[in-house]
Order: sequence, then C-alpha cells, then structure tokens
Amino acid sequence: MSTKEAKIKEDKSDEMNSVVGSLFYGQINKSLTFPFPQFTSEQKEIAREMSNAVSAFAKDNINSEKMDIESHLPKEIIEGLASLGLCGLAVPEELGGLGLDYSIYCRLFAEIAGYDGSVATMLGAHQSIGYRALINEGNEEQKKKWLPKLASGEVIAAFCLTEPASGSDAYSIKTKAVDNKNGTYTITGQKLWITNGGLAGFYSVFCKTEHEENGKISEKISCFIVEKDMPGVSFGEKESKMGIRASETRAVYFDKVIVPKENILGELGKGFKIAMNVLNSGRLSLGAGCVGGMKTVLALASEHAKNRKQFGKSIAEFGLVQEKLAKMAALTYATESMVYLSTGNMIRGMNDYYMETAVCKVYGSEALWNVIDMGMQIAAGNGYMKEYPYERIMRDTRINLIFEGTNEILRALIALSGVRGPSEDLKELGKISEVSSALSDPIKSLGVYTKFARKRLNNMTGSQKIDWVHPELQDQADKFASMLGKFAIAVEDTLIKYGKNIIDNEMPQGRIANMVMELYVILATISRTTTIMNDASVSTEKKDYVMKMTKYICKTARQKFMQENKMMTKNYDKTIAKISDIVANQGGYGLDIIDF
Ligand SMILES: Cc1cc2nc3c(=O)[nH]c(=O)nc-3n(C[C@H](O)[C@H](O)[C@H](O)COP(=O)(O)OP(=O)(O)OC[C@H]3O[C@@H](n4cnc5c(N)ncnc54)[C@H](O)[C@@H]3O)c2cc1C
Repeated sequence: MSTKEAKIKEDKSDEMNSVVGSLFYGQINKSLTFPFPQFTSEQKEIAREMSNAVSAFAKDNINSEKMDIESHLPKEIIEGLASLGLCGLAVPEELGGLGLDYSIYCRLFAEIAGYDGSVATMLGAHQSIGYRALINEGNEEQKKKWLPKLASGEVIAAFCLTEPASGSDAYSIKTKAVDNKNGTYTITGQKLWITNGGLAGFYSVFCKTEHEENGKISEKISCFIVEKDMPGVSFGEKESKMGIRASETRAVYFDKVIVPKENILGELGKGFKIAMNVLNSGRLSLGAGCVGGMKTVLALASEHAKNRKQFGKSIAEFGLVQEKLAKMAALTYATESMVYLSTGNMIRGMNDYYMETAVCKVYGSEALWNVIDMGMQIAAGNGYMKEYPYERIMRDTRINLIFEGTNEILRALIALSGVRGPSEDLKELGKISEVSSALSDPIKSLGVYTKFARKRLNNMTGSQKIDWVHPELQDQADKFASMLGKFAIAVEDTLIKYGKNIIDNEMPQGRIANMVMELYVILATISRTTTIMNDASVSTEKKDYVMKMTKYICKTARQKFMQENKMMTKNYDKTIAKISDIVANQGGYGLDIIDF
C-alpha cells in the first residue's frame, strides 16, 4: 500500500490533531471532543482567586471613561496589574511568571477584557504576542535574560510585523537585517501601528535576511530582539484611534540599528513561521477576551432591559428585546464553549490547533460585535450617549475583527488549511487537477476508490452515530451527524469543481469556513452541555438554562450552515464579482436618482 493510500485509509479522528481539521473529513475526533475539558478543582481555585484579585483591582483603579477621554493608560495601572502577576501569565514560575496553562490564561484574559479593551490590548500585545516568540523559540540564555523582567512588568514587550506596505501580506515586509559578518546585524526599516510602541523596552522585530542556497541568494524572514535604547530606534506620534484609545499604537523606526547575533530569536530564515505561531496563540486569548466583553455587555443590557419601563412594562418583557438578550447569551455560551474546548485540548496535547484558534478569533470577534450592537439597541438613546459605556465598548471592540489576522484572511486560512487533507486524498484519486499516479494503476486505485465511495456514502447518509450526548440532545446530535456528512461532501465537491484554483476562489472558501465554524459551535456546545448535565453538583436551574441555550444555538447554527451549504451550488459569486468590479472601476455607486 502506498503511503498516500495509507493516509486515506487511516482514521483521522484517532490523531491528536485538530478537531476542526477532522470535521473536513466528515469525522469527529471523539477523544478530543468528549468529555468536555472542565476546569479541575485546582484550575478552578487558581482562576477564581486570580480573577477575584483582578476584579477587585479593576473596580478600584480602572476608570475606562477617563482613560478613553485622555487616551492614556496610567503607569500605576500597568504597575498594579504587574504586581498581580498579569504580565507573566504563561512565563514559567522559575523565571518569575505564574506558569498558567492555556485555560486559566484565557479565563483571566476574559476577566481583564471584560473591564477594559485598552488594558486587555496592552497586556495581550505584551504577552500573547510581544514576547511569545521568546517563550516559543528563545534559547536558555535569552529566556533567562529577558523573561523575569517581562514577567514582572519591569519591561513591556511589543510585536513588530506590520509595515506601511505589508498588512495582511506579511511576507512582503521590507525591513532588512543585514549580516555585518562580525557577530552583528544592521536593521533598517519601519513598522506601523505597533501596540505598546514607545512604551515597550523589548521588541520582537521581523525582518528580511539574505540566505545563500545552491549559489543563489534569496530573502527570508527572521526574528530579532530589539531593545528600545539601541541607537537608531525611534517612534512616531501616538496614533489617535477610534477605540482602545488608551493603548499605545505607534510607528517604530529602525535606522541602522546594530543588533548582536545573540538577539536572533529562533532559527534564521524561519521568522515567518515564528510570527504565524505567535499569532496563533494570540488569537486564542483574543477569542477569550471577546467572551469577557460579551459578559460585560450582557450584564449591562439585561440590567437596563429589566429596569427600563415603556408602555407600562419592563422592556425585558417585549419579544424583540427578549430575542436580543437570548441571542447575546447564546453567542457568549457558544464562543466560551469553543474557546475552552480548544484550550482544554491544547492542554490534553493537541498540537495542531491553528484552525481552532482562528475559528475562536473570527467567531468570537463577530459574536462580540453583534452582542454590543444588540446591547446598544436595547439601551437605545442611553446607549448612544457618552455618559454610558456602550459606545466606548462598541468603538473598543471593532478592532478585534481587524488585528491578529483580519477575519477575511482567517476565513481563507481556515478553509484552505482544512481542505488540504481531503485535497491530497482527491489528488490520489485523480479527482482534481493534478492527475495522480493512482489513476495510472487501476488495480492499485480500486481499493482507494472503494474506500472513497464508502466514505462518501457514509457522509451522504450521515451515518456517524454520536452516542455520547445527553439524551435530550440526541436529536441535535443526529442532525449534526447529517450536517457533518453534507459538509465533507461539500468540501469534496468544491475541490473537484475548483481543483487547485480553489486558492483563488475566496467566496467558496468563505462559505466553507462559515460552515465549519457552525459545526464547531454545535460540537463544542453539545459536548459542554452534556458534561454539565452529567454533573451532579450543577443545579437544575442552571442545567435547564444551558440546555435551552444549546438547543437554540444548535438550531440557529444549523440554519446558517444550511444556507451556506445551499450557496455552495446555487450562488451569485460571478455576479457579485462583476458588481464589485464595476463599483471599484467607477469609484463608487455610480448612480444618481436625478439622472435616470
Ligand atoms: C489598533 C491596531 C493595533 C495593531 N497592533 C499591531 C501590532 O502590535 N503589531 C503588528 O505587527 N501589527 C499591528 N497592527 C496591524 C494589524 O495587524 C493590521 O492592521 C492587519 O494585519 C491588517 O492589515 P492592513 O490594516 O494593512 O489591511 P490590508 O491588509 O490592507 O487589508 C485591507 C482589507 O483587505 C482585506 N484583504 C487583504 N488581503 C486579502 C485577501 N487576500 N483576501 C481577502 N481579503 C483581503 C483585509 O481583510 C481588509 O479587509 C495593528 C493595527 C491596529 C489598527
């Protein structure tokens, strides 16, 4: 059997890799799905103790309204947060950090983000991305030198990738690090919109370096630690932003900055992968932060809905307000379930999690945006006034759809990463453009075809039985199995239709990403709710609440999924592309009611 055939035959669900990835094969990675990874008693104790401390500090010290107006995050707040250990959440204890696992890290991040977006951004840029490359790639010496200062907050970190001409297309950066052949490099270039720029003392800077291979010189990306005080480092003016105004965002300039080779982070030439891995974990805490934001908005909006009387009733009694509160709670529960299924699996040893973190970031940021929109609508006139926090939260949360990979780029990443496995299988079958060797050997291909046909039939009938859910959720689980089959078929059909050109067809990519997100939502919530239902310590009231939400989430996720699935074959992609071309070419709407 060829290795490729073996790959097709092996049961992808047995691997300790991505749960989201296995959905692309129409399979459920059961060992990583159920039971839901609940917090252990020890995790609960640490998370409670720490979040109570954060909450007490935030209530007494963080004045978001003032910070927003003044566009300033006072030094004392950073020092206070640092004294609680919040600058070194994931740094090993022996290097001065708290050494927290992903789940507690995310829970604390959610707590902070629930209080203030600027503070969360500052802390996220510091540790989720700023010095993450040092944790992931740093050598012993580098870690010993830097991590204690970073964990204590004595030094703040920043992540420098974006440049004026390189946003989403991060590989095209121009900042250069030239090897001086004397143990130093000279860095020249400019980075844009760097969070903590100017405030930070430690910069993870991504630069192009030259590499000689087979007598040819090529450019690759490498990562360097640059210190604020190094001659040639300077900063632009603090940007005046729509939201997260108290966080520092500046351009960072490097004018022939000499950096010793000891400051190279990880392997030379591997910087792009390093940057992507950093953003990978950053996206998870961003998703968790969105849960914190949603909880805050839900608390404000439910209080308002209860107390505001119109037409002689509390507005919480009106169906269209109720619909919003229920949706807001459901979006929170759905995102939270996905985030902590992902972190729990990362703790269990799932090493291939970039699709999970991208899903948590995209779904979480859009969920929070919807939640603040609904919260604003419930608060109505009050919501629009600066006297109330809704408009600030709305401004603060908009960035989540933009940074750490825009949601468009991440949808493409989810879809293209997910279809990679099935596309290899189809290539083997000669079903997509690269004609595989399998076709030239019909006998050899027979087994592959039989397997393919069986798998496809299984997917069509949705025959995967999910036998681990609470009986009340069996109907949802059966419907999920059928959706999963439909999804795997849609993926295959898309690949057969587009072949390698799928790379240039973003509209089907977007639909595939949207479908798999809804599948992950259902899987995470039915798993979590089943675990809650089986837990004797949970009250009947709470069980009833999560069961109702889960059924509602499954239904709405199913509706969205079915709509996207239908669009896979019946869509207006070509028309949409043409309208867009016309609009772009004519520079706008191009019509005036007075003309004709
Ligand atoms: C407040 C703030 C803080 C930031 N902090 C940092 C930081 O600390 N470090 C750092 O390195 N960067 C930082 N950034 C930069 C941020 O990561 C980028 O803004 C982001 O990556 C998008 O790049 P861009 O803004 O240049 O948009 P562009 O890449 O120009 O994209 C514009 C639009 O086109 C879409 N688009 C682009 N390419 C494609 C494609 N192939 N397919 C479909 N759609 C596409 C995008 O999704 C977007 O909607 C920050 C930005 C802001 C606003």
